Amino acid sequence: SQNQHESGTKSKIVVVGAGPVGALAAIYAAERGFEVEVYELRNDLRDPSTTPLNFTRSINLALSERGINSLRASGRDGLLERIMADTIPMRGRMIHGKKASGSIYEEAQDYDIHGRTIFAVDRGGLNKHLLDELESMPNVKIFFNHKLVGANFADNKAWLETKSPAGETQEIEITFDLLIGADGAHSATRYHLMKYTRMDYRQEYIDTLWCEFTITPKANPTSTSKHAISPNHLHIWPGSDRMFIAIPSLDGSFTCTLFLPSGEFSCLATDPSTIPAFFNASFPGVTALIPPASLIAQFEANPHLPLISLTCSPYHFRASAVILGDAAHAMVPFYGQGMNAGLEDVRVLFDLLPPSITPTPESLDRYTALRAPDAAAIGALALANYVEMREGVVSPLYKLRKRLEETLSQYFPALGWATQYSRVSFGNMRYSEVVEASRHQGNVILAAGALVVPVIGVAVAVWMAKGGVKCYTRAVWGLVHGQVCRR
Ligand code: FAD
Repeated sequence: SQNQHESGTKSKIVVVGAGPVGALAAIYAAERGFEVEVYELRNDLRDPSTTPLNFTRSINLALSERGINSLRASGRDGLLERIMADTIPMRGRMIHGKKASGSIYEEAQDYDIHGRTIFAVDRGGLNKHLLDELESMPNVKIFFNHKLVGANFADNKAWLETKSPAGETQEIEITFDLLIGADGAHSATRYHLMKYTRMDYRQEYIDTLWCEFTITPKANPTSTSKHAISPNHLHIWPGSDRMFIAIPSLDGSFTCTLFLPSGEFSCLATDPSTIPAFFNASFPGVTALIPPASLIAQFEANPHLPLISLTCSPYHFRASAVILGDAAHAMVPFYGQGMNAGLEDVRVLFDLLPPSITPTPESLDRYTALRAPDAAAIGALALANYVEMREGVVSPLYKLRKRLEETLSQYFPALGWATQYSRVSFGNMRYSEVVEASRHQGNVILAAGALVVPVIGVAVAVWMAKGGVKCYTRAVWGLVHGQVCRR
């Protein structure tokens, strides 16, 4: 009787796009007992001949609590465990740089005072686990090589392009009760949805391109490590307008990403022989991990891709269509939340849909009302975090605030303090509330600072008036000459 039309047939949910978000949405829908059809543009990524879209190979992502929680809440036994078995915990950032003396250093910064970690995961690997799970569910049909090309959301119909066995392009018509569009940043579902609902839409390309590199496993692996650098950190080489990062893979390699203004990419492309010198100046130590000839080869072979940030609202039309994941809110990757937020969309949506009947317009109204401010909040945080990752992580003020907030979180848990990063990555508080809580903490710190600074000023003035300056001079003199001020 669950999810049935009055006629007795089950309600049908169509999912467009079988990326991580679409695949999880299909699992949730099937687990609820709907009849589910999944349409994916590309070939099955479990087929070794499939080239991953946009990437030369599958990229590594940071999976954190929101994504994990949504996988856990899918209700599928063992799914989360199978996915987590293929991940590597990353306990913090490892900042790489050069001292004034010219020597190269590494500085570890734990993400969390309570020891919680984020996890490096292969995007393709995670997607494969989800597709395997889907295939094991009897009420799911998956159609690869099907491209959504048209939709009529008033009449619950859509059209998809596919190839006939003879290789000719053909169009098929499908019907649905609800269509979930999880077809990525350049979503065709969103494009068609715009014709049915008064959707506000905004997109921005930042002036930074990214290119992927690989650090290969150690040539002579030890019994404890096949990784050339710590496998339990997200490695960052920060720079004022550039950044290089490395995320560990299970095979001992690292997937690395170069982020650089587009003009700089063009300069390097004009004369690739300058690439090793550029790396030595910008990202000290990288040429010891990726030999110069390989750096040049990878820069030339791998695509230089743009970064888009987009917001829109509403996400739905009546009870017939809704968009999730990058289709609704693609964001720049600097908070490591794009996929996590998309997986969280699925949990939030299915929490709001009535459990045992066809989705209602009211439930989708509630979904947009709840989720649009959260997606806008994390999109803005992701843009702001680019500055923090490049510059903030080495700034004393950033470190001071982090230490203060973590100390309060550890020793005065009743105050409920936490860093913004830990609320985003280790909790499930709404993103918009995270921003609010962080703003509140910032204001308290400022107010406390405004009180403390004058008090310190007065104390120093009194101390100096009492002859402290003489003692200070003597103390410094004493330190230099091995004596102690005993006033
Ligand atoms: P996609 O992964 O884009 O999947 C969409 C699917 O829809 C694809 O399979 C596509 O083939 C299919 N499709 C497209 N059009 C059609 C059509 N017309 N018909 C049918 N099917 C269609 N996120 C994190 O959480 N952590 C990270 O550390 C992180 N790092 C990142 C680093 C980089 C460099 C980048 C670029 C992104 C990163 N992200 C990260 C973001 C993450 O990759 C995306 O948020 C996530 O992949 C979105 O999943 P999705 O399923 O919504 O969309």
